[in-house]
Amino acid sequence: GIIKTPVRSSVSKPETKSKKKKEKLSSLCKTPPSVVRTRNGRGYHRGLFLGEGGFARCFQMKDESGRIFAAKTVAKASIKNEKTKTKLLSEIKIHKSMSHPNIVQFVDCFEDDVNVYILLEICPNQSLMDLLKARKVLSEPEVRLFMVQIIGAIKYLHRRRVVHRDLKLGNIFFDPDMNVKIGDFGLATVVSPSTNKRYTICGTPNYIAPEVLGGKATGHSFEVDIWAIGIMMFALLFGKPPFQAKDVQVIYERIKNNEYKFPPDSSASAESKNLITKLLSTDPTLRPSLDEILEHDWFKCGPFPAKISTESLKQIPKNL
Ligand code: ADP
Repeated sequence: GIIKTPVRSSVSKPETKSKKKKEKLSSLCKTPPSVVRTRNGRGYHRGLFLGEGGFARCFQMKDESGRIFAAKTVAKASIKNEKTKTKLLSEIKIHKSMSHPNIVQFVDCFEDDVNVYILLEICPNQSLMDLLKARKVLSEPEVRLFMVQIIGAIKYLHRRRVVHRDLKLGNIFFDPDMNVKIGDFGLATVVSPSTNKRYTICGTPNYIAPEVLGGKATGHSFEVDIWAIGIMMFALLFGKPPFQAKDVQVIYERIKNNEYKFPPDSSASAESKNLITKLLSTDPTLRPSLDEILEHDWFKCGPFPAKISTESLKQIPKNL
């Protein structure tokens, strides 16, 4: 999300919903009219409501030739302030420049009197977070395939000096063929070659890297995305993120102290735990590079499926 709360303007919503529902900026977003016309005359027919984040509501949109997209809809009333407007423009600029099979494809951007619309490739099979909720844990072969696709997309981003900074299961969507697609560039940033570091605190509590919590003294960069890969891999194999706690401050303490345990009753391989331990190194310089991750034994010590079917959405596929 491009609005980062609750640790003011820097930390986006936790993935676990808080009981007290705060007024979301996305609630300012009016349902778009049944036809939205762009400035150059194209018409899009609004379809089903797909979901909402902290900032945007997402609707299906059909173009005149019948192709279906997702339109991330942001109310103009929620971007009155300059900073928010700059952030939305930055999200659009970065996302627009991306083209990779495992990144949600940016299609177009337009506005009417009340909303800004970001037209995206539609991902009709929800996110990895929804899959995990339905299945509780995933099998190692499935996670291997998802990881390879996610890492491929992050290699593409990092080569272009883009740090995503909000990699989490809820921001990784499935296309109709169950390929994963990284989305939501609301916190992404381009790292300048001269400094290589950013000092803003941002991310989602469960996924925040320890050096981000360290504040200005350390700075952080590409390695925060590597950390998030470790959090996602842990969550997919064990059913919950490693530093999970009700209280955000407790999560931060656990992250700073690298305090997590592999559930003893799990049948996860020793290789998977070894890789996760490396990814979750407190010292960012000790985390493996993206190529080193792909060379890890875990990718070779068991089956690697060629494809995942939509059957995976409900149960462990029979062949895995
Ligand atoms: P925010 O920036 O407000 O967090 P998101 O990018 O997370 O907004 O989008 C909000 C919701 O819209 C998502 O949780 C998801 O349900 C839905 N959504 C977003 N992008 C797509 C897409 N490409 N295809 C289908 N649904 C999407």
